[in-house]
Formats: sequence, C-alpha cells, structure tokens
Amino acid sequence: KEINSTEDKPIHLKVISSKDKTAVEVAVSRPIQKTSEIMHLVNPIVENVKNKGDKALIDYTAKFDGVQLTASVLEAPFPEEYFEGLTEEMKQSLDLSMENVRKFHSAQLQKETMVVETQPGVVCSRFSRPIEKVGLYIPGGTAILPSTALMLGVPAQVAGCKDIVFASPPRKSDGKVSPEVVYVASKVGASKIVLAGGAQAVAAMAYGTETVPKVDKILGPGNQFVTAAKMYVQNDTQALCSIDMPAGPSEVLVICDENADVDFVASDLLSQAEHGTDSQVILVGVNLSDEKIQQIQNAVHNQAMELPRVDIVRKCIAHSSIINSDSYDEAFEVSNKYAPEHLILQIEDAQSYINQVDHAGSVFVGAYTPESCGDYSSGTNHTLPTYGYARQYSGVNTSTFQKFITAQKISPEGLKSIGKAVMCVAKVEGLDGHRNAVKIRMQKLGQIPQGF
Ligand code: NAD
Repeated sequence: KEINSTEDKPIHLKVISSKDKTAVEVAVSRPIQKTSEIMHLVNPIVENVKNKGDKALIDYTAKFDGVQLTASVLEAPFPEEYFEGLTEEMKQSLDLSMENVRKFHSAQLQKETMVVETQPGVVCSRFSRPIEKVGLYIPGGTAILPSTALMLGVPAQVAGCKDIVFASPPRKSDGKVSPEVVYVASKVGASKIVLAGGAQAVAAMAYGTETVPKVDKILGPGNQFVTAAKMYVQNDTQALCSIDMPAGPSEVLVICDENADVDFVASDLLSQAEHGTDSQVILVGVNLSDEKIQQIQNAVHNQAMELPRVDIVRKCIAHSSIINSDSYDEAFEVSNKYAPEHLILQIEDAQSYINQVDHAGSVFVGAYTPESCGDYSSGTNHTLPTYGYARQYSGVNTSTFQKFITAQKISPEGLKSIGKAVMCVAKVEGLDGHRNAVKIRMQKLGQIPQGF
C-alpha cells in the first residue's frame, strides 16, 4: 500500500538526534509503573483466596473470567477432550521448540558439586537442588501463550522440580484452557492445571487451597493484577513464596546502520509494537542518512498496515522513536543506558560488538536473527527482565528453578589455621558464644591463642 492511501496518518516513529540529550532522555524513559495503585484492588482478592480457598477462587473466576466452574483444578493425565483442536503441525512446532529450549537449558544445568579447599584442611563446597514445587502462570486474558508455557515448563523439568503446577484463566466459551497449553503441560510433566487467572490464581498457588497445592516459587508474566499479586505474596512471610522477577511491558531496542535491510528493521520494530499499546520500541541508528530514515519509516508504515493488530501498532509507534547517533560507540551507550529486554543488532559485523553490551535481557545478532525466533523456537528463554531491570536481573534460566546449598568440612589442622581469625572477629562483634565454639575446640587441640 502507498503511504497516505488510508485516511489515517502515516505510522511513523519520531526522529531525534543523539545530540538532543533532553529528547534522548525522554525517549529512553519508561512510563511510571502503576502496580502500587492497584494494590487496593488486589489485596482483598488475595486475602479472600487465602482465607476461603477454593470457594473464593471459583467465585472470582465467575466474576472476572465469566466462567462458572465446579472445580478449579485439572489433574494429570489431562482428559482427551482438553487436547481437542490440536493439529499435528502445531504439535510438531511445539515439539521442535521444546527440544531446542531443552537442549539450551540442559547445558546450563549445574549438577556437579563445586569443591574449593580455601586453605589446607578447610574445604568449602556448593551443590544445587531443584526448587521442589513451582507454580507457572500462563497468561490467557487476551491471547493464548503456549510459548510462555514451554519457556517456563521446560527449564523447570530440566532443573528437576518435583511438582510443576500450571495456572491459566479458563476460556469464556467452554471453561477450558487452550489445547496447546495443555499439550505443553503434559509434555513437561505438570501435575495440575489451575483453571484460574489474575491475582486469585497467584494467591491460590502461594497459600494453597483445598485442591491447589501450595508452591515454593511463582513464575510467569501477566497483567497488572498478576504482577501486583506476585509482589504481595512475595512480601508475605505466611506465603513463604518467591517470584521470578518484576515484570513490565515488553520492549525492544534495535541498533541499525546505513547498510541494514530496512524491511528487516521495520519487521523487528513491529513484532514488538504489536504486543500492546504500552510496548516500548526504540531504533538507534548509526549515522543514518535522511534517505535511509525515510525508507525505514515507509517500511514501518507499509508493513504495519498489513497487520491485523494495526490499531495497537499505531498507538505504540506513536510514542516510539528513532535516535540517530554519531557512532557505534554512542549507539551502544544509549542501549546500555536503556538496558532493553530485547536488543537486536542489525549492523555490519554485529558479532564483534557483543563485548559492548553491558545491559540487556537477550541479544539478537545479525540480519537473519529476528526476535521472534528467540520468542518461540531457537532455544533461549523469552522470559526476560523489562523496565531496565536488565541492569541487575537475568532472564529465566535453569538456575531460576534451582537453589544452591553450601557446605564445609574443617579438619583439626584447618581449625588451627583459621581459629584465631574467627575468634578475633567474634570478639570485636561481641559474640562470645561464637568465640567460645572455636576456643573450646582449640583448647582440646592444645592451641589456646593469647588474648582469647
Ligand atoms: P492475564 O492472564 O495476565 O490476566 C487475565 C486475568 O486478569 C483474568 O483471569 C482476571 O482474573 C484478571 N482480571 C481482569 N480484569 C480484572 C479486574 N478488573 N480486577 C481483577 N482482576 C482482573 O492476561 P492478560 O490480561 O492478557 O495480560 C497478559 C500480560 O502478560 C500482558 O500485559 C502481556 O504483555 C504480558 N506478557 C508478557 C510476556 C513477557 O515475557 N514479558 C509474555 C507474555 C505476556
């Protein structure tokens, strides 16, 4: 389609120069998270489920999802009717994706005990254990997301979690969840699917109900109700439940240079923009000519007009920018400052720039590496830190489902060599019991350090 062939305005990004520091600051700033504002809506939901269990869960599902269930939990093996509509092609696609995710996450598994003799006779070690019970939230309000199911379920299985529980809101039409999600749940060995969404599903898994088992950790993306409930239960010692990471709207930053294929660049921007009107899309150009920028804008418009979710894209692109920088170094400076969830490098010799990436959730290197591949099938995980949390968080990986226990074994010789240091520090901290535990042993070894 030609630009302006519709009544609406062209779908174009705002163009700014990296020299305009104020404009760059605005372009890379994120909207304020409103999670705290909805806590007053979420608190009573969580408390009700905590206190009233299954009854509250069923009532909230009727209220928010429009489905009157008699039971909220589907037990494995899941009934045949729940797989209805699943095509052979879809099964094969999910199988291929799960296989690649399994390969990549199995390679991350830290099974071996790490042993270090810090000094003679002082042996420190570390070994891992899977988190026993995990609750995986698969959003289902506006889209079906079997990819999220496999990105969480496969690493949980690889890590050896003993009980994997899925939760996803049931469909209004028949009270079921999508057969693709049920297929993934059965493939990763989930014991149950909780047919509930939102804050009530999180609460049910955090505290447990008559039919929903209490889990140790809750993972998965979701809307503001899900996020707020995860934050609530994480802070409630009664729940004794951890969560994966803070979540915000999905985002991409693409770095491209003059030789980049404009159709590729546009397609990457749009594959993010279609997620939601609150998605963040930023293009950082390296010395782009005016002509190149216009070509990119045209490609964005033309491709966007062909997308079924063009209305969402239009709103997202309206608050998205092209920041034209003077050099590769400056482009990476902007990117590191933003710390994007997804970073796409459409620049010449892209691989050689990896060492300039300090903060990003996942990096897509070179023209033929669209983010979509990482979203579904290549093997890396798509559950990634958003909102700038890539500065301090990693995306979901195998160790997300593990914990690490340390151990030590000290011989009499070892105690003789570190005992004095321990007693000295214990003395300054005023912890005589600590000091004594060493002193008693040192005495038996015939070694009483002076002054202790
Ligand atoms: P969802 O499953 O997160 O939420 C649906 C639930 O919200 C419903 O079951 C209902 O219980 C609850 N709810 C709806 N309105 C409510 C109200 N007024 N009061 C209380 N509870 C209410 O599905 P969604 O809404 O489609 O949101 C999915 C989110 O997950 C999106 O924001 C999407 O961007 C995000 N997501 C992120 C990633 C990622 O990796 N970052 C991946 C997939 C999805």
